[in-house]
Amino acid sequence: MTCKDCDKAIGYKQHKESMDSLGVELCERHTRLIKKIILDNGTPVEAIQLFYALKEAGAHPMLEWWDGKKSVDVAISRVKLNIEIDKDYNMITHEQAISDLEEAMHSFKNGFTTVRIPHLAIKYYLDDTVQNILGIITGLKSNIKAI
Ligand SMILES: [Zn+2]
Repeated sequence: MTCKDCDKAIGYKQHKESMDSLGVELCERHTRLIKKIILDNGTPVEAIQLFYALKEAGAHPMLEWWDGKKSVDVAISRVKLNIEIDKDYNMITHEQAISDLEEAMHSFKNGFTTVRIPHLAIKYYLDDTVQNILGIITGLKSNIKAI
């Protein structure tokens, strides 16, 4: 068992502790660092799981990336892709819905693409979610080349 961040070998107890709290295999130091990020930003655990899955797939993601106005859950900066995790669709208010759309419009104007992913997709279909994001990255890359 190794830490998904630094490849350090971890024992059973640490494996269980990080899997139970974050759903990702991490060493003591990285579990602590990630928990701090969650506390500071209200990051959903699904964003952490997606971040490490994308990292493993070689996509070079960034966690809680500051775009100048707000913190983005996960970003792939070389193709200007922002990924936001939607915590609960049922809880969304109409004000939130229109402000999300407005935010997406502003980042689009600045050359960023925003994708909103329901947390359930990550919870139940992490591999498929990663494959789809890799496809979006490929698509964005060819669009960048085309310009
Ligand atoms: Zn580590």
